[in-house]
Amino acid sequence: MSLVPVDDLHGIARGELPSSLSAADGGTPVLVLLPASTDEVRRIVLHARKKRTSVVPVGGRTTYFDNLALEGAIAVDVSAMDAVVSIDEANAVATARAGIRIATLDAALRGRGFCIPMRPDGYGDERLGSLVAHDTAAGLGAFHGPFADRIVGLEVVTGAGDVVQTGAARVLGSSAGIRQGVPDLGALFLAAEGRFGIVTEVAFQLAPSRPRARMRSAIGLGELEAVLGRVRDLRFSGALDSVAFEHEYPSEEAGSLLVHATPEGAAIVRAQLDLGEPTTLGKADGAFRGPPDRHRAALHATFMDGVDVHVGWDDLSWIAGAARQSYARAMDRGCPVMRTTVYPGPHAVNVGFHFHFPRTGEGAAAARGLCSETASALAPRRPIPYRTGRRWRSVLAPDPAWLATLRGLAAVLDPDAVLNPGVGLV
Ligand SMILES: Cc1cc2nc3c(=O)[nH]c(=O)nc-3n(C[C@H](O)[C@H](O)[C@H](O)COP(=O)(O)OP(=O)(O)OC[C@H]3O[C@@H](n4cnc5c(N)ncnc54)[C@H](O)[C@@H]3O)c2cc1C
Repeated sequence: MSLVPVDDLHGIARGELPSSLSAADGGTPVLVLLPASTDEVRRIVLHARKKRTSVVPVGGRTTYFDNLALEGAIAVDVSAMDAVVSIDEANAVATARAGIRIATLDAALRGRGFCIPMRPDGYGDERLGSLVAHDTAAGLGAFHGPFADRIVGLEVVTGAGDVVQTGAARVLGSSAGIRQGVPDLGALFLAAEGRFGIVTEVAFQLAPSRPRARMRSAIGLGELEAVLGRVRDLRFSGALDSVAFEHEYPSEEAGSLLVHATPEGAAIVRAQLDLGEPTTLGKADGAFRGPPDRHRAALHATFMDGVDVHVGWDDLSWIAGAARQSYARAMDRGCPVMRTTVYPGPHAVNVGFHFHFPRTGEGAAAARGLCSETASALAPRRPIPYRTGRRWRSVLAPDPAWLATLRGLAAVLDPDAVLNPGVGLV
């Protein structure tokens, strides 16, 4: 392989990449590049293979669970690849480059009567490519399923330096807005956390943007199981648009339950969830509001880390107990603020235990310790990791055949193991 020059690519000075939100940031990259095209990404990967240097794709840098391992790596910031390529209104399919902010993309779609119905948080500062890399989104919008369900096709630069199209429509050059029909390589890049390829373009199905009724109620941890039971009974009714519960320690007070319903279903939801008199009742459209980079300002003063999992609807009884145990552990370690989040969706419930410390090195270490302990405590429940694999490596026991197959594929997709080594479950 001849040396692939990258000197002409647009870069910023080494070390100037802003740290991730993690107090213990991901280290200093040797080079920070902002490719403007898929071909430039390909050249960077080939250069990294030649140099045996690791490559870290970087999106909005909103992750607070420290999976941007930048030390000694070439950071590939995809944010210059931020165009909306097409919005096909007739077929409700859009294509956009991987570096576009979710809030920017959602606003462009709303201007045409569509939206991204799931609502990855981080105030919309995360990038489209990382919705694939993390295979999220939970939070408000969990009732619309993961973003992956809407993906029609991807363009990815693998760790081998190949540019691969995935999804039947893209592979065959069809205008049909579907992914299925030929063997689909797309799933290999979902939740892979950038281990197998750098996502450069995403085609996805659109949802119509519609107003919803919004209700907020105060409920205690002790009531959570009963309320979730009622949500379970309503989950396939079509009336629910989203449900989110947040509870914060050291406050002994009730947590906040936010429910969005379709306008037609609002009365049913209100009656069947037996919410009492909601504290607020109004209309919402689900649009992201506020200036870019809001997550950075919001989290500037504190350091947050956490463990998030998906659990089945048959396995909910332990959530409040696990929250109380986490609070006790957190109190023991001097954690000033801890938050439990519960985001139900039709097929699973997303549960998070988040620890907030002052932004110091000790705070980061303490939070990391609490996360490891929490992951170990949850492991017997057979949780499905949400967003980050590395944290779960030591406590989960995946099917050995699955693991061996994935390792074989990794050897093909990234023969020199240059892409995000050490990040992810495999
Ligand atoms: C306070 C807060 C709350 C949040 N809550 C939620 C929530 O409830 N639900 C939800 O869905 N999300 C939530 N998020 C967002 C989510 O957790 C991540 O922050 C987001 O998915 C990461 O996007 P990013 O663009 O910032 O990626 P980065 O932080 O820049 O990168 C994340 C990972 O993806 C890889 N990656 C990035 N771009 C690419 C690419 N193009 N190709 C391949 N790999 C890539 C990186 O190498 C890294 O491993 C929250 C974020 C914050 C800050």
